[in-house]
Amino acid sequence: MINLTIDNKKIEAEAGRTVLEVARENGIVIPTLCDHESLEPTGSCRLCVVEAKQGKRARIVTSCLYPVAEGLTVDTKSERVMNVRRLVLQLLLARCPESEQLREMAAEMGVAPEPRFTPDKDNVKCILCRMCVRTCEKIVGVSAIGFSYRGTEKNVCTPFQEESSTCIGCGACAYVCPTGHIEMETSEKGDIRKIWGRTFKMQTCKVCGRYFAPEDQLAYISRKAEIPAEDLAVCISCR
Ligand code: SF4
Repeated sequence: MINLTIDNKKIEAEAGRTVLEVARENGIVIPTLCDHESLEPTGSCRLCVVEAKQGKRARIVTSCLYPVAEGLTVDTKSERVMNVRRLVLQLLLARCPESEQLREMAAEMGVAPEPRFTPDKDNVKCILCRMCVRTCEKIVGVSAIGFSYRGTEKNVCTPFQEESSTCIGCGACAYVCPTGHIEMETSEKGDIRKIWGRTFKMQTCKVCGRYFAPEDQLAYISRKAEIPAEDLAVCISCR
């Protein structure tokens, strides 16, 4: 175990943990948009910056990547930290001026919701955090989406922006997206889901009759896990 200080609070932590993890475990809130417990941290959004001091040296680091160390002193809300965080937020707002999530964060941090920098485009809500792409690849295992183009044109999409034959309609990308950029629609009856330009038929639970998952997703799980398809035709509530 090692000893460090976060926001003047003396903390004992396991070596190898990150500052963000240890801060959270101790009730200290650090904002972030690209962190998820099931994914490796990447430091994409840069909102989790903190000031880390070791000896006489103080520097701004991304807390989701920075490991705790003996004698480390961390300030999560210093003026320097807040200035960097506000600047990051202004840059994100310039890319995604319509994002409700960003506008709410801006209000909390005292940043004007109107972009300080010229917006790249209108109606873009993607901050390029890669959460959706990584979830699809690392957790779901299908790699149905990725990034295309560069610079201000960079966006997340299916290969060649065509219907993805590998997408199983699970919607994990839409669930993890912090800004609501990925559109997923479910019909009123619940029998159809639309995502990434494709339409998926939903499976009914053989016990309660409720639509609960895309047929393609269940077929994928059945193949991967070698579970008979009929064993998967029951929703979580009825299992
Ligand atoms: S669509 Fe959402 S999850 Fe994917 S990169 Fe953009 S903001 Fe991140």
